[in-house]
Amino acid sequence: MQSNAASDAVPQQRRVVTAVPGPASVALHERRLAVVPVGVASTVPVYIKRAHGAIVVDVDGNQFIDLGAGIGVTTIGHTDRAVVDAAVAQLDDFTHTLFTITPYESYVRVAELLAEHTPGTHAKKTVLVNSGAEAVENGVKIARKHTGRRGVAVLEHAYHGRTNLTMAMNFKAAPYASGFGPFAGDVYHAPSSYPYHDGLSGADAARRTVAYLEKVVGAPDLACLVVEPIQGEGGFMVPAEGYLPALQEWCTANGVVFIADEIQCGMARTGAWFASEHFGLVPDMVLAAKGIAGGLPLAAVTGRSEIMDSAQPGGLGGTFGGNPVSAAAAVAVFEQIEKNGLLAEAARIEHTLKPALLGLQQKYDVIGDVRGIGAMLAIELVQPGTGATSKEPNAAVVASVAAYAAQHGVLLLTAGTYGNVLRFLPSLALTDELLADAISVIDDAFAAL
Ligand SMILES: *Cc1c(COP(=O)(O)O)cnc(C)c1O
Repeated sequence: MQSNAASDAVPQQRRVVTAVPGPASVALHERRLAVVPVGVASTVPVYIKRAHGAIVVDVDGNQFIDLGAGIGVTTIGHTDRAVVDAAVAQLDDFTHTLFTITPYESYVRVAELLAEHTPGTHAKKTVLVNSGAEAVENGVKIARKHTGRRGVAVLEHAYHGRTNLTMAMNFKAAPYASGFGPFAGDVYHAPSSYPYHDGLSGADAARRTVAYLEKVVGAPDLACLVVEPIQGEGGFMVPAEGYLPALQEWCTANGVVFIADEIQCGMARTGAWFASEHFGLVPDMVLAAKGIAGGLPLAAVTGRSEIMDSAQPGGLGGTFGGNPVSAAAAVAVFEQIEKNGLLAEAARIEHTLKPALLGLQQKYDVIGDVRGIGAMLAIELVQPGTGATSKEPNAAVVASVAAYAAQHGVLLLTAGTYGNVLRFLPSLALTDELLADAISVIDDAFAAL
């Protein structure tokens, strides 16, 4: 096997040796501005040279503690040895045949692993595609074929991607959809459960959602309901207890395909293989992407066999779908999660990080809410003094804390419909020691406000 250069070259520590961004990043950024459109924006314009575990190193030699993992993609750590070795071995064997022309084993193995690890013991089948948005597109397409119905229901604050259909499924118009229409029709945005703001019980929130679906669409016209068990871009809302099971029950009773978009919250992120497990859900279809292949592009639609088989031969696929290098990496990701007990590592991160965030909330009254499960935690920022009452969004604090953190060697992601959420999506390789170091930087960032 090839050795993994990054694992030797990247000590797991924070180190800032230049201004951030440093001169080499600034020079690269100049080149980029000439040739990359502004629509592709970067949160922190530091250009990365290598990464390992929970640390990324930029072209100026600065080492950042990575609390975002490329939006929850390198969940098992950057350049995990087993994943790199599996990908390199596959690169040497072959890089492409097209599964829909001449197939190969790793695609089948990924489908077997997903059948085994997604909730429920029923027969399941999987189609592999390239991106999360493409998984959402295929999930909807299959649900429509299976039911013969047109309507697609989503929840407020949802995020599902940047393709034409998924732009129509997102809650937030700016920046994802503004000016990019016309959009796909037959997409219905139902009220969700957002306990910090609506104060509703799960049962009451579900009654409100179902009432909307029955009045505005009507079950006989509804093909599917697509939900993120824990919403990602929307701000890591954990729905009130009983909310999601009630929605699933209503879907089952009405022949509506219940689709869990686990693209951000799945694949060990929350301490379970899939977040649906925390809520006792057995979705008809589970969508996976982001963390599934350790950073290589891969996404999956896994569903009940009878639903998945409703698409006719030739109706599903795509040139790069289930690419052999990505599929080999995904098999290694599944093996590493199992072998290294990484579900427990997600729980460890929650047990270290959540009390630390609650501690910050005691100190800083702009922190209105601390929430999340496993290595998927967030704080919602509000205007000073409004936390107990109106909970006015405070996006300015989020921006300054994230900027301060980056300047001091900590990469932090923002989220939230109102841009007022800081989200923590670290890799499970993040040690308690690095976590404590990152928290002290964030504490300083709040103190410096
Ligand atoms: C990121 C994301 C998507 C879109 O995935 P892409 O790979 O960026 O197309 C869809 N749903 C959720 C919940 C996501 O977090």
